[in-house]
Amino acid sequence: MIKNIIFDLGNVLLSFKPEKFLLRYIDDLKRINSFVSKVTRDKIWWQLDRGIISIDKVKSLFFNQYPEERDLLILFFDHWMEMLTPIKNNIKILRELKQNGYKIYVLSNFIKEAFEFVEIRNDFFSLLDGRVISSEEKVIKPEKAIYEVLLKRYNLIPEECVFMDDVQGFLKPAKQLGMFTIWVRPNTNLRAELKKLSVKI
Ligand SMILES: [Mg+2]
Repeated sequence: MIKNIIFDLGNVLLSFKPEKFLLRYIDDLKRINSFVSKVTRDKIWWQLDRGIISIDKVKSLFFNQYPEERDLLILFFDHWMEMLTPIKNNIKILRELKQNGYKIYVLSNFIKEAFEFVEIRNDFFSLLDGRVISSEEKVIKPEKAIYEVLLKRYNLIPEECVFMDDVQGFLKPAKQLGMFTIWVRPNTNLRAELKKLSVKI
């Protein structure tokens, strides 16, 4: 029986679509797409998730690495936290699950400064029974250790957990540990998927 519901943050509870935001300023989707994937898939960016580098340091490294992208880099770093906006439908589901007696957790790769930013702006954080944030733990998904931190810290039995993430590769370690998983794509009906697992929603 599922007792614990574990949410990812980015693109599960908080939307992160920098492309859309940057298009307001620069009318070149092709350039923007390549810029965003360049930045957010860079090893330097992952160090932020791991909490071992500061945003200022990353900014200066990127300015050196991509001098031709200076205008986009400035826009991106000045505004990227504002691009994290609530996904209302899924937050509504979170509230209902809490009301129905489930324990609610967050397990997320998230940058320290951005987490502080979203935590004070979104009141669903007060409903959580616990959270494991990569930059606070210095480990990132899909490393098994971060899933184990969650299970251990809150004494969770994997078979009583369902974990939801938009990145398919991040579900694998959870599954291997014995949790149920849901891959959250833009068209996923989360309510229906939870019902399939006999979750009361
Ligand atoms: Mg995500």
